Amino acid sequence: MKWMEKELEALAEASLERSLREHSIVSESPGYTLREGRVLLNLSSNNYLGLADHPAIIEAMREALLTEGVGSGASRLVTGNRLPYGRLEESLAEWQNCEAGLVIANGYMANSGVIGALVSRGDVVFSDQLNHASIVDGVVLSRSEHARYRHNDMEHLRTLLNKYRDNRRKLIVTDAVFSMDGNQARLHELVALKREYGAMLMVDEAHSGGIYGRHGEGLCHELGLKDAVDIHMGTFSKSFGVYGAYICGSRTLIRWLLNKARPLIYSTALPPSLVAGISKALELVKADHWRRERLSEASRLFRSSLCNAGFNIGDGDSPIVPLIVGDNDTALRFSSALEKEGIAAVAIRPPTVPEGTARIRFSLSATHSDRELIDAADCISTIGLQMGVLRP
Ligand code: PMP
Repeated sequence: MKWMEKELEALAEASLERSLREHSIVSESPGYTLREGRVLLNLSSNNYLGLADHPAIIEAMREALLTEGVGSGASRLVTGNRLPYGRLEESLAEWQNCEAGLVIANGYMANSGVIGALVSRGDVVFSDQLNHASIVDGVVLSRSEHARYRHNDMEHLRTLLNKYRDNRRKLIVTDAVFSMDGNQARLHELVALKREYGAMLMVDEAHSGGIYGRHGEGLCHELGLKDAVDIHMGTFSKSFGVYGAYICGSRTLIRWLLNKARPLIYSTALPPSLVAGISKALELVKADHWRRERLSEASRLFRSSLCNAGFNIGDGDSPIVPLIVGDNDTALRFSSALEKEGIAAVAIRPPTVPEGTARIRFSLSATHSDRELIDAADCISTIGLQMGVLRP
């Protein structure tokens, strides 16, 4: 095991080692986190709509805990398919306006399992270079060809589609909103290409579910592309504030996944109380338009404050705001300086993002007030100037 120590030392020297910090919620203040005894403004959470401590969700989970017990005891296909599942999957299909919905334990397992169920050796997956790691791992596990196209580069995708024209099944897969950059996929063009080349299209709405669409259905719905997408994937761990993931699509797709998606077949079903909590969260996501509106206002305000200060934060409109600083050490020092000023905003480094693009990834919540965001942007600008990330 000596090699491990050596490799870890090398990681630490390159400012690439990761370690855990302890966090607790701050009651009555959902936009904050208690980190090792200090209350910090939380600009690094995916609790976009502020539902993670919602009393109605807590109550739904408590009730289910008392009636259904703690664990589900088996995988869904054995005896773990407990009452709350059916109810949630019906509401999911209705919300997404699809024939059927399927709950999977988490987004990582949904992406890796579904891709593995759709394609195998001899097939090809066309995947944006900035897609989430769970998509990348799904392709690797599937043993199909991995055709990665440059980020949002449709000409490059077309070249690859031509190159792999003769492969058996073709799957195009993309994040709807890219998790580390906060910008959108070019979904209209992806739909046109999928049609032209006879490919399947899968869209990961992890960072767009709850945020876009009239009832938070996601970006595909917002853009009127729902029916053109074959596989809708989303998570319950971000806007929903809970945990878990879903796939929506045709009845045939869901029937296929029940038979072929290994993470669903070979893993214990989520606890029933959690599934009941997700159902309650879905009701709130659909009904609480004000949360989406507030989040969108907050994103506009924070983005314009950083732009006016002179930062380059890309071209997104989502609550994910990347501040690219380049090297790993600068990103770590920037994050520590923010922490000293009372802001939790983590440094994101390779391999999560490409080499030379280390960044602070800010993510906002509907619970943040204008005052908090303006003050935070001022503080970020001051540190940016002090560290030479921003030129005066
Ligand atoms: N897809 C994307 C785009 C994500 O950002 C994430 C989580 N960071 C996942 C999938 C995985 O979801 P989960 O956390 O539920 O495993």
